[in-house]
Amino acid sequence: MNSIAIDGPAGAGKSSIAKALSKRLGYIYIDTGAMYRAVALFFLDEGVKDSEDSRIESLLEKLDISIKYEDGTQKVFLNGVDVSDKLRLEQIGKLASKFSAIGSVREKLVALQRKLAKKENVVMDGRDIGTVVLPNADLKIYLSASSKVRAKRRYLELLEKGNTDLDINLIEDEIIKRDEADMNREISPLKQAEDAYYLDSSDMTLEEVVSKILSMVKEEK
Ligand code: C5P
Repeated sequence: MNSIAIDGPAGAGKSSIAKALSKRLGYIYIDTGAMYRAVALFFLDEGVKDSEDSRIESLLEKLDISIKYEDGTQKVFLNGVDVSDKLRLEQIGKLASKFSAIGSVREKLVALQRKLAKKENVVMDGRDIGTVVLPNADLKIYLSASSKVRAKRRYLELLEKGNTDLDINLIEDEIIKRDEADMNREISPLKQAEDAYYLDSSDMTLEEVVSKILSMVKEEK
């Protein structure tokens, strides 16, 4: 199976780019961040804090995350219920970052991600795809952009989804803090894989980034 790994900080445009790429290549798009967000929602609903190790371990046995596709869009199911529309708020992103630092949580999701990539050609995005989940990916991209640009993209995404109470400076602060936590955690921190290409998308349109990556895919073949 073929695989493309896209890692990078929050709001770098990974999902939009991975989605567009997967369409063009006829691959499946796997948004691993949405899986961590679904786990965060589960623990939030269960009233569990990220410090409660033993409760987390036992609840993980009850947790079933699966993904399905509707019109090419990934839907995330938490114990059989579609939670895709509840995942995008920064509050959930922040919580996902906390729970994703826990080894047992990562083990469960990494196993699921690898299983999916065994069955299909995939474009997978996240934080540890090139370094841990798919170390043998055919192409690895580390996608970044300035924090100002990333905050603006996140702001527009949330605005489009109907959120009105938004402060772009606060969004920037929050994503900077989340990146720091993701880059400095002990297990599978966010970092560029040695064999990944670094792409700064601050001054590039989505189409430019997609074309650039498509040309790299051709070169790899
Ligand atoms: O990509 P997204 O912003 O949806 O990810 C939410 C959080 O999930 C990240 O900040 C990170 O802490 C965690 N995550 C991770 N590994 C991945 C994908 C996401 O740790 N492969």
